[in-house]
Amino acid sequence: MNQEELSAAGASMMALAEELYPICRSITGDGVRETLRALANRIPLEIHEVPTGTGVFDWNVPEEWNIREAWIKDPSGRKVVDFAEHNLHVVGYSEGFRGTLPLAELKAHLHSLPDQPDLIPYRTSYYKKTWGFCMRHRDLEVLPDGNYEVFIDASHTQGSLTYGECFLPGDSDEEVLISCHGCHPSLANDNLAGNAVAVTLAAELAKEPRRLSYRFVFIPGTIGSITWLALHPEAAKKIRHGLVITNAGDRGMVNYKRTRDGNALVDRAVAQVLGTSGDDFAIRDFHPYGYDERQYGSPGFKFPVGVISRSVHGTFPEYHTSADNLDFITPECMADTLRKTMDVLSVLEHNATYRNLKPFCEPRLGKYGLYGSGGGQRSGEFSELALLWVMNQSDGSHDLLTIAERSGMSFEKILHAARSLETAGLLRREGA
Ligand code: ZN
Repeated sequence: MNQEELSAAGASMMALAEELYPICRSITGDGVRETLRALANRIPLEIHEVPTGTGVFDWNVPEEWNIREAWIKDPSGRKVVDFAEHNLHVVGYSEGFRGTLPLAELKAHLHSLPDQPDLIPYRTSYYKKTWGFCMRHRDLEVLPDGNYEVFIDASHTQGSLTYGECFLPGDSDEEVLISCHGCHPSLANDNLAGNAVAVTLAAELAKEPRRLSYRFVFIPGTIGSITWLALHPEAAKKIRHGLVITNAGDRGMVNYKRTRDGNALVDRAVAQVLGTSGDDFAIRDFHPYGYDERQYGSPGFKFPVGVISRSVHGTFPEYHTSADNLDFITPECMADTLRKTMDVLSVLEHNATYRNLKPFCEPRLGKYGLYGSGGGQRSGEFSELALLWVMNQSDGSHDLLTIAERSGMSFEKILHAARSLETAGLLRREGA
């Protein structure tokens, strides 16, 4: 993608995040369906429903949760908390409730952040049945004594868990898995930005012929990946590389979390792309807390799935609060995450081993129109040094990623050099 296309992609990702922001999502329910329908307007997405109670490994698909209305009225009858104003005001997956209770009792059901008194926290209670509200500590502190009327019109029913899947077949049935969670309500970086980047990736990949096959899953966190893995044993076996995309739109640098074993091709591809990007970045080792990489990387599967994010969950003050809003993400940062992720996928897609067909001393590049020539390549990426590296290392035992790593050059430059040499008849792809 050129700069203009990237800016357009940034704007369209922002528009998608804006469209999805007001929807109240959870691990199940109509908010998830509405979100997936919006994604399906942009990519070929199959929406699946898995009935409540379905056994998935050690878990069961939970009841479907839907909420229509929720509020608290103070002793004077004034609404002091209203779900209609912000969907973070209700604890996610909260039970329905109607009653009147004194402030002291009500407080056991109220959550706030004393250290961030102007923010509404994000809280859920999926596996313990309870009800609750989240509010600004500033507002909680000034609640007058007396009796409060509480109403939560929410239901837990025998329904289903909804997820979306977009499969883009390639020449090979080896698959790249891209996974992102979409179970958070109005939180922009922690869920919407990842969905926006993944949708755009899918739309871009769909435009071109592919060697690898790509499977995008849009799922509720944890229970969604467990459900998908349990129901798709055959598809899962084809996963060769994977990325979870999350927290993809804030102003922080790109941060990669390695796969469980830490030395997969995707780990090397990300390190090479970030290392030659000229931008700050960080790479962390795997650890078994975070997002769905924990399920993909569990010992029964051991799939090489890393995590692409910008700021790391739990480390920024906006995390899981009302400050993770549309101002916290930018079109430019989502576009940057998109570009780098596309570069990583390009490594997976195009990495190959070549053989130098004139291996006795260096060929005279000028004879082949390659010496000092810059013709035919995009954006000045052509590099004589890249030609020399590829010619020297292509003895049939070094793939392009290895050559990029050893030379310190970007994979894109090395790939371009290999293609130029192949066109000139100096190089042949092994196995081709
Ligand atoms: Zn989260």
